[in-house]
Amino acid sequence: MNDYLSRLFHDSGVVELCHMDHGRIWSTWHNDPDSLMLAAASAGDSGNLFTTLNRVEPALLGDYLKSQAGRTARTPDACIHRYTRLFFDLDPTRPKGQSSTADELAAAELRARGLVAKLAALGWPMPLMAMSGNGWHVQFRTALPNTPETSEQLRAIYAGLAAEFSDDEVQFDRAVQNPARLCTLYGSVKRKGINHPERPHRQSVCQVPRDWRQVHPRQVDGLANLYARQTRQHGPGATTRPAKALAAAGQGDYATLNVVAWFAAHGAYVGPLAGHVHGVRCPWSDEHSTPSPKSGSDTVIFANDGDGWPGFHCKHSHCAGRDIRDVLTLWTDGDAFCAAAFAPMRRAG
Ligand SMILES: [Zn+2]
Repeated sequence: MNDYLSRLFHDSGVVELCHMDHGRIWSTWHNDPDSLMLAAASAGDSGNLFTTLNRVEPALLGDYLKSQAGRTARTPDACIHRYTRLFFDLDPTRPKGQSSTADELAAAELRARGLVAKLAALGWPMPLMAMSGNGWHVQFRTALPNTPETSEQLRAIYAGLAAEFSDDEVQFDRAVQNPARLCTLYGSVKRKGINHPERPHRQSVCQVPRDWRQVHPRQVDGLANLYARQTRQHGPGATTRPAKALAAAGQGDYATLNVVAWFAAHGAYVGPLAGHVHGVRCPWSDEHSTPSPKSGSDTVIFANDGDGWPGFHCKHSHCAGRDIRDVLTLWTDGDAFCAAAFAPMRRAG
């Protein structure tokens, strides 16, 4: 515990302690473990305690907190200088708002160890592992600048790991990738739902590796590229989601899909670009790390050109591998914009 906190302060400088209690959020910022532990002790025996993990830019944070003038505040993502931890969270699926059973916890542990083994096989060093109270955490040490490029890499990694390590039993949490993300204060008790013998409140605990080496930025980049390549080859989540097969099994003959009218109906049509190419707003634009230009030239559709299907292409790396079939899966009303129903025999004759 002391070892964990001293490593945390060593790498991140300033640490936010956040106490969440029945919807109330109370944060304080600390420069050393003693001050943080004192504040943690004063939080008493209710609610849950969390800390930030990554390195703060103290001057930016100071200005921000001053601007908040005593209002409830948390560390904004923009005040994180660099990622000093890669944080992965595996949570067993269970009734909402309740603690885990021993079996559910064991399933999450097994999954977390599988993830660590996979990354070890790729040459990654040993991470910290923690029982968070209801699930398992994995923290790798690293040093990555808080930039759009890093966000893009992390998006690819979290999406890839989620596709590989999530199922009905255990969920890999994709939401914990933002730089100011909070993590359980290890050693504190996780209180979720009623403290029931089968679903008890548990004291979280972590194991800091004796030699907690950093993951090299090159290794992070390598893993991001590996997952981005898999997505391009097999489609997003190809192994876990029969998305494209489903879309292709629809009733419409998609060679007659009026793709312009379809995008317009979804409020996503921007305008013609050249020939049969039209600019559109990407249906996944909220996942992009950079905003789209007004012209809509970063995402295009290709209207039916002869006998083939219309096309969709988004140049943002997060959309790599996505095509018109993914849009047909996302927007399920594509059939309504087809001039003809699909009739396999017609082609043969
Ligand atoms: Zn896109």
